[in-house]
Amino acid sequence: MIPIAEAEKIIDREVSPLKPETVGIENAVGRVLAETIRADMDLPPFDRSQMDGFAVRAADTKHPPSHLRIIGESVAGTGFDRKMKPGEAVRIMTGARVPEGADGVQKVELTKENYGFVEILETVRHLQNINQRASEIKKGARVFGKGETVSEQMIAALAAFGCADVKVFQKPQVSIISTGSEIVPIAETPSRDQIRNSNSVMLKALAEGAGAAAGILPQVHDDFETLKNHIAAAVGLIAEVPISKFRINKGEGQAPKSKILIVTGGVSVGDYDFTKPVLRELGAEIFFEKVSLKPGKPTVFARLNDSFVFGLPGNPVSVAVTFYLFVRRAVRQMQGAKNIELKRGHAVCAEPIKGAKERDSVLPVSLSTDKKGRLTIETLRFSGSSNFIAFARADALVLVPKNSSLEKSDVAEIFFL
Ligand code: AMP
Ligand code: MG
Repeated sequence: MIPIAEAEKIIDREVSPLKPETVGIENAVGRVLAETIRADMDLPPFDRSQMDGFAVRAADTKHPPSHLRIIGESVAGTGFDRKMKPGEAVRIMTGARVPEGADGVQKVELTKENYGFVEILETVRHLQNINQRASEIKKGARVFGKGETVSEQMIAALAAFGCADVKVFQKPQVSIISTGSEIVPIAETPSRDQIRNSNSVMLKALAEGAGAAAGILPQVHDDFETLKNHIAAAVGLIAEVPISKFRINKGEGQAPKSKILIVTGGVSVGDYDFTKPVLRELGAEIFFEKVSLKPGKPTVFARLNDSFVFGLPGNPVSVAVTFYLFVRRAVRQMQGAKNIELKRGHAVCAEPIKGAKERDSVLPVSLSTDKKGRLTIETLRFSGSSNFIAFARADALVLVPKNSSLEKSDVAEIFFL
């Protein structure tokens, strides 16, 4: 059994970024930058007026009201190109270029126009109502770094610097196999002894949320040969899955060769738990298969033919926790992301939270704020690792270090979801 931190280190050691590709800016949100983005121009590109009004020489306005001659106008898109001389003013619009010679703008409300002249009613300070050239950013300055994930908020800045296309890391292809003879597709009504397949669609959503392209492969019965064939096909060891005597739903069809294969269920030591025996039989290099984590102890991480395989315990909450801690990390690493972990933080326990012997607990919790402005943690009536209905309300995961428990008012480490 290895600590969580060691399992993370192993993933970091084994997984490296995929090649970059180019995507249009409209498809860039959620992708990880494979290049540094620099400003290709000064912003603003010229001294820009913040107001509708008159561009003036501040020195001309020391003794208001000052009478200045209007010599032209500067509008957004078409500036005024002559140099302004003492005693002159140029009508100017918000966003327009401030003419050469002017060093301030008076807003129109503080002016009075009269037959080609304007009265400036209040003194204008040097640079008043002007956004100076390059005051936001200078040409050549770094805007975003390699490894940053493109957010909706970053799009305007990328567009401003002409990034119609951006270089990003390829998305890893994640394929998902759920195992269990008791599992039926979600559209079916389970008979006695059966339950619906919660894991495949959840994992697809989680993988896509982490930036992967994900596909659901057929569910597999707890049968050694069948599972072996499906895993072998998913990682490209065989071209096609041979016909099985078991009824199998089709999933989303044959996935393109997966960079990451996730297999849920069948990783424990039961008589029908075949994931590990199958991986061994196929010659996988198993990096770890037991983590001191609750839930998630039997998590497997292996390499098989150029793919990474994660074997996760079947309980939906265990699947989610081990995905967030381990699979997500690999998915983010493959995309060259700087942030490969969930955001960490601290919050105050609103009630006691029991830990486990020998294993660190990572439990889904909900977050609130109290009257003192503190972030607080409440458990989700978590009655064991199968309580995935409570998990639906989770905002975070809380870490309870092994052989300890958290008391009310203790400060605990959390991972935001
Ligand atoms: P296992 O890890 O195969 O022993 O499964 C542990 C528990 O998770 C069992 O109660 C399974 O029925 C349940 N389980 C396994 N796979 C799934 C799945 N795809 N969807 C929902 N529950 C599952
Ligand atoms: Mg099972």
